[in-house]
Amino acid sequence: STPLLRVEKLVKHFPVQKSLFSRDKAVVHAVDGLSFELRAGQTMALVGESGCGKSTAGRLVLRLLEPTSGKVWFEGQDLMTLKPAAMRERRRELQMIFQDPYSSLNPRMTVEQTLIEPLQLHGLARGRQKARAIELLDLVGLPAQYLQRYPHEFSGGQRQRIGIARALAVEPRLIVCDEPVSALDVSIQAQVVNLMQDLQKQLGLAYVFIAHDLAVVKHIASHVAVMYLGQMVEYADKKSLFDQPRHPYTQALLSAIPLPEPGLVRQRVLLQGDVPNPVSPPSGCRFHTRCPHAKARCAEEVPELLSDGGHSVACHFWREIAASAPPAEMHIP
Ligand code: SF4
Ligand code: MG
Repeated sequence: STPLLRVEKLVKHFPVQKSLFSRDKAVVHAVDGLSFELRAGQTMALVGESGCGKSTAGRLVLRLLEPTSGKVWFEGQDLMTLKPAAMRERRRELQMIFQDPYSSLNPRMTVEQTLIEPLQLHGLARGRQKARAIELLDLVGLPAQYLQRYPHEFSGGQRQRIGIARALAVEPRLIVCDEPVSALDVSIQAQVVNLMQDLQKQLGLAYVFIAHDLAVVKHIASHVAVMYLGQMVEYADKKSLFDQPRHPYTQALLSAIPLPEPGLVRQRVLLQGDVPNPVSPPSGCRFHTRCPHAKARCAEEVPELLSDGGHSVACHFWREIAASAPPAEMHIP
């Protein structure tokens, strides 16, 4: 069947001034050839350090940003060819939840106004708006009395619930969630992720879930794409990715997650240095300046993203690394 969302070779380059004192232009390679598919009811996690292009990718998918090149299909329809009016109509089905529940809600609008605004925009009859707003609060586990309150009267977790209710107002099919729990206390994060999972089951939603941390997506993801400097370096279903990470970068991200069982430790993979500047990404494998397994070939030849049994990885040496590395998790005797 047709996937709900198909993204092919998306590229976004931003021109920037080289320096304050120069007229020369440089180019930020924010997203450099991203492809994936997503089915209804599934969650695609996009994971990577800040600056890897995952938020830009999320905005490109919703056409909130125009790509430099590449395609996005929603239910088989090429979004890039849609005229503004048709895109506005489609946008109802494509919503976004933002990272910061403090700044994404208008402080001068009550919860009722916040929830009713998208309903008005998409033409729900006036007489039905309030009932829908109450229904939306109920969906995210908040009481109807909250309708007359303002954002500052709520905790971070409650505000994010209101942000979710607003995104759900017009019955979307796909929601891009840009680090929806990163700004919340760890104790609240699980509650919000659980709520999102319940809503997904109940409403058949698909999510693109952006996160900088693999721990956050462990429960909600059906598939995970790991991004590094604008490119996908690994893609697999959640189980394969967590059980048998193939890319050294994924192995490093995973090794940073503490394991819940006492006595079980992960071989910690430490990365050297910082993420390189996306204006001039390293030659060959972009990860070679930080990779603990890098060899001469890695600086010269770009590794292709190749699939083996539905699990894709862009690394010249992943087989050798898998054969030689200790298991990702070890019991301490
Ligand atoms: Fe490391 Fe080389 Fe593989 Fe890149 S291609 S991840 S530098 S081993
Ligand atoms: Mg971001």
